[in-house]
Amino acid sequence: MSKRIAILGSTGSIGCNALAVIEHLGAPYQAVALSGNRNTARLVEQIRQHRPSAVAVRDDEAAGAIAPLAGGAVLYRGADGLVEMVQRDDIDIVLAAIVGAAGLPAVMSAIQAKKTIALANKEALVVAGSLVIPEAKKRGVELLPVDSEHSAIFQAMQAGRREDVKRVILTASGGPFRDWPVQRMQQATVDEALAHPTWNMGGKITIDSATMFNKGLELIEACWLFGLPPSKIEIVIHPESVVHSMVEFVDGSVLAQLSPPDMRTPIQYALTWPHRRNGISRMLDLTKAFSLNFEPPNFDKFPALRLAYDVACMGGTAGAVMNAANEIAVSAFLEGNIAFGRISAVVADTISQHQLQEHPSMDDLLEADRWARNQANLIISQ
Ligand code: NAD
Ligand code: MG
Repeated sequence: MSKRIAILGSTGSIGCNALAVIEHLGAPYQAVALSGNRNTARLVEQIRQHRPSAVAVRDDEAAGAIAPLAGGAVLYRGADGLVEMVQRDDIDIVLAAIVGAAGLPAVMSAIQAKKTIALANKEALVVAGSLVIPEAKKRGVELLPVDSEHSAIFQAMQAGRREDVKRVILTASGGPFRDWPVQRMQQATVDEALAHPTWNMGGKITIDSATMFNKGLELIEACWLFGLPPSKIEIVIHPESVVHSMVEFVDGSVLAQLSPPDMRTPIQYALTWPHRRNGISRMLDLTKAFSLNFEPPNFDKFPALRLAYDVACMGGTAGAVMNAANEIAVSAFLEGNIAFGRISAVVADTISQHQLQEHPSMDDLLEADRWARNQANLIISQ
C-alpha cells in the first residue's frame, strides 16, 4: 500500500519526530510534502534531506527565499496554499501537526480529498469536531490519533466492542506544577512553565500542560474521536507518563497501553496502522525497579479541567471559544504580558461572556474563534 505522507508543521516538535519515524521505517513510507511557518532554515534542511514534491510556506517572502533551494518542489503559499497542497494526488496520508486552530482548514480540506488523517492537531477537533467528525464519516476517511493518550485509547478499544466501554481513563503527567503550592504556581515564570518533567514538546502545548488546558483539550478531543460523552471520560494524574491512557469495559477489565514517553511511538502507530513495525524508541525496561503512580487531579488548583468539562457539555461554539481564548492567553503569558495564574481566568471570562450557538456552521465557528481572540485580548488589556 502506498504511504506517501504530507507533514503539516514539519518544522515543529511532532513534525521533526515524524520525519525521524519515516526515515526509520524506510520505503514505502515517504515524506512527499512538507510545511513550515517561521523556521525557514529548518524547512530548507528538511527539503534537502527528504526531497519532497511539494512544500507549503508562510507567504511570498518565504517562497522567494526557499524557491532557489526547493529542488524542484512545487511551492504553495499561505493558509490557502496549505489547503490546496493537501489535495494533491500524490499524497495518501496527511499528518496534521500544525499547532492551534490555524491547522483546521487544511485538516478539513484533506478529509474532503479523502486522505487518511494522522491527527496531532487536537485544536482542530476542539474547535470543529462537530463538523470534522461527520465529514470524515461521510467520506469514509480514517482519523488516526497521534496524541499519545488517544493512541492508547484507540489501541485499547480494539480489545472490545464500543458498546461495552464503561469509561475511558485519560492519564495526565500533571505538568511541572503538580507539587507546587497554588500561590507559587500563579507567579511561575515562563522558564519554569516550559520545564516539562516528562515530555519535550512545542512551546504552546508545554504551557498547556502546565495549566492542564492540554488535558482539557484532550478530553474534548477524546469525546469527538471516540463518540463518548464527557461523563464517560475520567482524568487521572500519572506523573511517570508510561501508562498513556486506559479503557474500562463493563466487566471491570481495564486495558492500558504502556511505553516510555516518546512521541515517535504513537506517531509510528498512526502511520503503520493497522500493522505494527519495529519501533525506533527505547523499549520499556522491566529489569530495573520502578513505580507507576496514580492520583486524582486537583480541580481547584487547575481550573482548566473543570472549564473543559463544562465546555464539552455545552458543545456548539464553546470549544472554539475556549481554544481561541487559550491561544491568546498562552501567547500573552509567553510574551510576559500576563502572570501564569491569569491564563485560566482569561479563558473563563471569555467563555462566560460568549453567546453560545448550539449548531454552528464552519463560518459560525470561525466567527466565534475571531470573537474570542478579540475578547480575550480585551480582557488582558483591562
Ligand atoms: P510546535 O510549535 O513545535 O510546531 C508547530 C508547527 O506548526 C511548526 O512546524 C510551525 O511552523 C507550524 N505552524 C505554527 N503556526 C502555523 C500557522 N499559523 N500556519 C502554518 N503553520 C504553522 O508544536 P508541536 O509541539 O509539534 O505540536 C503540534 C500539534 O501537535 C499541536 O496541536 C499539539 O497540541 C499536538 N501534540 C503535540 C505533542 C508533542 O509532543 N509536541 C504531543 C501531542 C500532541
Ligand atoms: Mg497528549
